[in-house]
Amino acid sequence: MKADIVSIGTELLMGELVDTNSAYLAARLPSIGIELQRITHARDNLDALAEVLRQAWQRSDLVLTTGGLGPTDDDLTREAIASLLGETLYVDPESLERLRETFRRRGASMVQANVKQANLIPSARSIPNDHGTAPGWWVESNGRIIVAMPGPPGEMHPMWESQVQPRLRDRSDGSVILTRSLKTHGLGESAINELIGHLFHLPDVSLGMYAQAQGVQVRLRARAASAEVADRMLSPVEAELRNLLGDNIWGADEDVLEEQVGRELIRRGLTLALMESCTGGLLAHTITQVAGSSDYFLGGIVSYTNEVKAAWGVDPSLIREHGVVSPEVARDMARAGREAMGADIGIGITGVAGPDELEGQPVGTVHMGFSHLWGEHHISRRFPGQRALIKQRAVVQALLELLELLRNNPNFHG
Ligand code: ATP
Ligand code: MG
Repeated sequence: MKADIVSIGTELLMGELVDTNSAYLAARLPSIGIELQRITHARDNLDALAEVLRQAWQRSDLVLTTGGLGPTDDDLTREAIASLLGETLYVDPESLERLRETFRRRGASMVQANVKQANLIPSARSIPNDHGTAPGWWVESNGRIIVAMPGPPGEMHPMWESQVQPRLRDRSDGSVILTRSLKTHGLGESAINELIGHLFHLPDVSLGMYAQAQGVQVRLRARAASAEVADRMLSPVEAELRNLLGDNIWGADEDVLEEQVGRELIRRGLTLALMESCTGGLLAHTITQVAGSSDYFLGGIVSYTNEVKAAWGVDPSLIREHGVVSPEVARDMARAGREAMGADIGIGITGVAGPDELEGQPVGTVHMGFSHLWGEHHISRRFPGQRALIKQRAVVQALLELLELLRNNPNFHG
């Protein structure tokens, strides 16, 4: 089955509203074997919308729409579908009664404008909306399907989950599109392409590469009659990729870097402390995005000035001798943070987030120190990009380095 998604709303074309609905749906189509062909944004204008729907209808067996089901004059999805199919709208007594009941339950009064939310056409069945007033539409005509769902994600998601997805799954031939993502670090897209380029044109498995904040992601995709068969297609290719990319892979699929780090620390009973300068607490923030991080994260000091660094135990002579943006100071920050909090592992970060140079060091220079019960080391990087991106890249790099440190040292235990 081939599908089109049409997201409806003038705000989407004004850049005022980000279209999360189509991303939500697009992510859920492969597992029921539906191939997405195109996503279109349509404005709240009857002719424009009908034209967008007509094109989608010609292209795809299934058209999924969101938005434009409300009671106001600019909510035109039903009218546009009726016009596309040349059918006439009528008020469905059952839907009207349900709508009245919804308003009664809420203690709200129903105005005349709401009546159009009970409209149907002969080819449409109403899909109840348990989280709002606008019912959806399930339309079948000429062997094709249009599903119209409300715009608010809080209404659309449950409608998809409980009603639309199950019905589509019943219709589908059971085929699935299975994907697997391998998350890498330390290699750019072109370096990865050198290594794995020969796998790009396999008959059954397609390969894609996406550069993301946490490194390049390599995605495999196979379509098959069942999940088992698709898995059998993916597995050998995945094995070869793992072989080729080796230690540059830090996770797969839904893995999140800070969660991986947290799991490693918990497994070993280790605790972590930070002293951050140029990242301004972003590493601490990222680590504490994980629920339960208090099991291993003791705390972080944001020591932005030299005086505060010294007050928290960084040796001022190192700053004088090597400059504040130096591997020596990064290592000493890691040690000082670790000792101040009595942690097993300390990380210190000092660098130049920009836009101006510091101590003659170019923007993007970041040194990260790692101090632990078994020794210490540092890494130094020069990150491209601007201030926010440099901070983010430093945080990702520090987490990756910590993960690698733990994985390379199975004997580290608290
Ligand atoms: P309502 O009955 O609330 O008017 P509706 O089906 O008519 O619902 P719209 O009027 O198009 O939907 O959108 C209502 C709200 O839903 C928007 O203001 C926005 O907050 C959210 N919304 C709509 N479309 C999208 C989308 N594509 N992605 C994310 N949010 C959306
Ligand atoms: Mg609306």
